[in-house]
Order: sequence, then C-alpha cells, then structure tokens
Amino acid sequence: TQDIPVSELALNPRRGGPKNLPIVDYFVDDDDCPEMRAIKHKPKLVILGTGWGSVALLKQLNPGDYHVTVISPSNHFLFTPMLPSATVGTLELRSLVEPVRGIVKGVYGHFLKAMAEDVEFSEKLVEVSGIGPNGEKQNFYVPYDKLIIGVGSVTNPHGVKGLNHCHFLKDITDARLIRNQVIRNLETACLPTTSDEERRRLLSFVVCGGGPTGVEFAAELFDMLNEDLCKFFPKILRNEISVHVIQSRSHILNTYDEALSEYAEKRFAHDAVDVQTNSRVKEVFADRILYSQKDDEGKIVTKEIPMGFCLWSTGVSQTDFCKRLAKKLEGQNNKHALETDTHLRLNGAPLGDVYAIGDCSTVQNNVSDHIISFLRTIAWERGKDPENLQLKYADWRGVAKRVKERFPQAANHLRRLDRLFEQYDADKSGTLDFGELRELLMQIDSKLTSLPATAQRAHQQGQYLGRKFNKIAQSAPGLQLNEVDYGDLDDAVYKAFEYHHLGSLAYIGNAAIFDWDGYGWSGGLLAVYLWRSVYFAQSVSFRTRCLLAMDWSKRALFGRDLMNF
Ligand code: FAD
Repeated sequence: TQDIPVSELALNPRRGGPKNLPIVDYFVDDDDCPEMRAIKHKPKLVILGTGWGSVALLKQLNPGDYHVTVISPSNHFLFTPMLPSATVGTLELRSLVEPVRGIVKGVYGHFLKAMAEDVEFSEKLVEVSGIGPNGEKQNFYVPYDKLIIGVGSVTNPHGVKGLNHCHFLKDITDARLIRNQVIRNLETACLPTTSDEERRRLLSFVVCGGGPTGVEFAAELFDMLNEDLCKFFPKILRNEISVHVIQSRSHILNTYDEALSEYAEKRFAHDAVDVQTNSRVKEVFADRILYSQKDDEGKIVTKEIPMGFCLWSTGVSQTDFCKRLAKKLEGQNNKHALETDTHLRLNGAPLGDVYAIGDCSTVQNNVSDHIISFLRTIAWERGKDPENLQLKYADWRGVAKRVKERFPQAANHLRRLDRLFEQYDADKSGTLDFGELRELLMQIDSKLTSLPATAQRAHQQGQYLGRKFNKIAQSAPGLQLNEVDYGDLDDAVYKAFEYHHLGSLAYIGNAAIFDWDGYGWSGGLLAVYLWRSVYFAQSVSFRTRCLLAMDWSKRALFGRDLMNF
C-alpha cells in the first residue's frame, strides 16, 4: 500500500477483513506537514476513547514515534470529579471539558469522532462506525499495530425497572439534562396552578446510590437549594424541599474510612438530607420510587418516596463493545471488566498487540502471589526453606504494610488476616506455618484482585503505557512491533504496572473529606478550599484552570445561574 499516494488511499480505501469493509490505512492530511510525512509509516497506535486513561497516555507519548489514531464518540476530555458541581450551575459545563483535537495534534495524530464496534484480533483491524452526512451509520476498519482500549464503563442498571424515569451522571450531556430538570421543577413548583401536594413531589429529589458520585451530587444540590433558592425563588419554602439518598449498604461512602463515612452521615443529618441505608430500589415510577428496607430486626419492609427527580448512580458495568470482545477471547472470565496481565495486555489477545486501561479493565493481579513472594524473600534472607518458614507476627506486619501500599483495595482483607495472625500469635507462640498461610490466602484471593474504577487509576495506567511505548520505540526503532517471536518485549523494556493509591476525596456540602492510606481527615471551609485546590492543580490545561477560577468567582459574586435552556 505504501506506493499508492496517501490522498488516494484515504478517498478510495482498500477493502477487506471478515466483513469486506473499507480499510482506512492513512489519512488525507498525512502528507500535510513534514512531521506527518515522517510518521506515515511508523507503527500504527490506535487509541479507543478520550477519557482519563487515553488522555494521560497521549500526553506521555513522545511525538513522532508512532502513527497515532484516536477514535471516540466524544471530541473532548471530561474532568469528571467536578461534574456534580456542573449539575446545579456552580461550575459551567464548558469549564470541565478540554477539546481533544489539540491534545491529539501534540503527537501528530488523527482524531475520528466515531465508535469502536468490534476488533478482528487475527487481522489487527478495529471495526469502527461513524455517523454519515445523512445520519446513517457508516462502518469501516482501522488497522493497528498496537491497540489501546480505554472506553470506560456504563452505568449499572442492576436489573431495576423504570430507569427511563431516572437521570444518570456520566457525561456532560447528563449534567446539562439534570441542570435543566432541577430548574424546570423549581419553576413548575412556583406556578399558581400547582397544588401543594404536587409542589412537594416536584421538590422531592432522590439519589439512588450512596457512593462518591451520589453523595457529591446530593451535597451540591443541597448547597444550591440552601444558598440560592430564597434569593431567586422566594415563593418556595425551605421545608417544602427534600433531598433523599437511598443506599444499599449500611453506610454511605462505604469504600472510605469508617470515621469519614460517619462524618458524612452526620453532616447530612445536620443538613436534613435524608439517608435511607440498607435499602434496595425495586422500581422507579414517573412520580415515585419504590424500595425495600431491612429494619433493625432484619425484617424487610417496602417503602416509597414521591419524587420529582431521581438520579441513578449505583456503580458501573461493562460497555457492549467490551462484552463483545470478552466473549471472543479465551481467558476473559470477569463479568465486569476486561482482564489484563500486569503489563496491561489484554488476556487472550495476541501478546503485545492489545492493551486495556481504566474503568473498562481489571488487572489480574494475584495478591497472594505477591504476599508469598515477600515471604520467600524473608526466608531467603534468613537462609531458610520457605516451606519451613515459621512466621512471626512482626514479620507479618512488615509484609502486610508492603502489600497494603501496593494493593490499597486489599486493606479490609488484610485486616482479616491480621486478626488471624494475632490469634496464631496467642495460640502458637508467635508463629504461623507457611503452608497454612498459603491455604488461607487462596481462599480469599479472588476478592483481592480488582483495582478501584477511578480517574486516578486510569490516569496512572495511561501514563504507564505512554512511558512504556516510548521505551519500546527507543529500544527497537523500526522494529515491526508485534513480530517479536522471542522473549517478551514489554517485560524486557519496562517493569509491570504498579498502582500507587494517592488517597480519595469527596465533597459533602460546604465540607470535604480526605481518605489517604487509612488516615482520614474531614473539615469545613478549609477542607473545601483544599479540595478545590487539588482539583484545580489536576485540571488538564491552563485554559480549564482559568475557566474554573472564573466560575468560582462568578458564583461567589452573583450566585448560580438558575436558568434552563
Ligand atoms: P472514561 O474517562 O469514562 O472515558 C471513556 C472514553 O471512551 C470516553 O471518551 C467515551 O466517549 C469513549 N468511548 C466509550 N465507548 C467507546 C467506543 N465504543 N469506542 C470508542 N470510544 C468509546 N474518579 C476519581 O478518581 N475521583 C473522583 O472524584 C471521581 N469523581 C467522579 C464523578 C463522576 C460524576 C463520575 C461519572 C466519575 C468520577 N470518577 C472519579 C471516576 C472517573 O471518572 C473514572 O474512573 C474515569 O473517568 C475512568 O477513566 P477511563 O479513561 O477509563 O474512562
């Protein structure tokens, strides 16, 4: 294909693949500038998605090493941690997004506003669908040497009926719809024709899910109702409004330190945000929500809340695209995410061709293997056979600390092991048999493998791949990347991925909480400013930082914009 002029190829692409679709090898602008010409025949790196993982990877890549193509239905990067603030007008929607074409241009890449539909692993082709000029779907193939899947996740419906009456909070369009609906409800409640009962229903806001997104939205909503309502809607009385959070577990923010989740609950109780714990939503209707609740005696009772607005925020699940890939590949046994090895290579795909990062993936990371390898090191240092190592409680503390640093998600399970060790310490004069330990670890291992689905993780994985691809390009220039039939190129050039947990933050309504490595901190205004500074510093560009600063100042001076368009 290299002898045919690029422009001709782009306009009249060759056809092929199992579906005999057009194959887009090069783009018209490949000949546009010297840099583009130089990378025309470099290894093809195709990146799916423009979220946290993909953008971190793009920012890390050395320009000119790869022929990069980015494919995503969103031509912007969304700064999700601040999305709840945009639902009530604290921040403007455009302040949270960064146009992605500028970022792609930084690596002389191409951007296609389209969806990945399928992957033909044996032929190294991604099937892509774009929307044509008349709104019709047009499918074609994009060939790759290396493919990175960073397509995120979708909201988990948990099989509940009536979710068409709910709002979701995943992207910028969701935030706009929520903002419009909240304001529409306030406006309708003010009409003289609206009855008292209908008013109370319209002003009843329900959030399903007590995780960080649900809690932050409830907090933002409460702030807005508290701070701007009497100013702009004097007809609405404060006691006519209610905010409810329905949570299936016994506490909200249950992945945070216990003290912090209790602090958040107290804060909500103080602000009259109603939290219903141990509750499962059964069905959502247009005007009410039905849920079952376990009472103190363990009896299940059915309850309902009349509502005018419902946010569904109960965790995430796999996209259809990822489900399709998982079905095709051997060794994909996880129902929630694509499994990768510790080099982030997709299990079951040809080695070194396909990687998966962020929410759509999970690293098959055998925590017990790591614990055992730490123990082997101890045995080796003591000149003992690991199988005969008699472990002291103090040794275990050291191992547990290192494992907890590497796998923060295992903290709860390590605490269980900790208690067992203490028991052994009392029973068996301070020692635990290596074999017994291994058996214990096997029993709980499956629960220790998944990493949290957070921006932090996706960002670290994107950066990791960027660094690794730079190394691959340096150490093997001109190498046909996937034709290495000896050894393991990824392993030879770079270490396996290691996640470093930098803590979690959550805004809970004029207060914020921080959870770092088991140490919690919560506070009022000071914490809120700290929370803002962290996100301000993390924002992708100078442009978004300026916009955020302007929004916060505008809100402080004039209040929120309570208009719907
Ligand atoms: P995403 O950022 O979701 O990006 C996925 C990309 O793939 C998108 O561009 C999408 O358009 C594209 N895509 C989807 N399907 C296809 C397809 N078939 N083909 C091509 N492209 C496709 N995490 C934190 O760490 N801290 C927080 O405070 C925090 N707050 C959050 C608040 C909210 C409201 C939400 C929704 C999430 C929050 N998260 C937070 C989670 C965080 O946003 C996600 O973990 C992170 O976005 C995952 O990054 P990702 O790159 O895997 O996917």
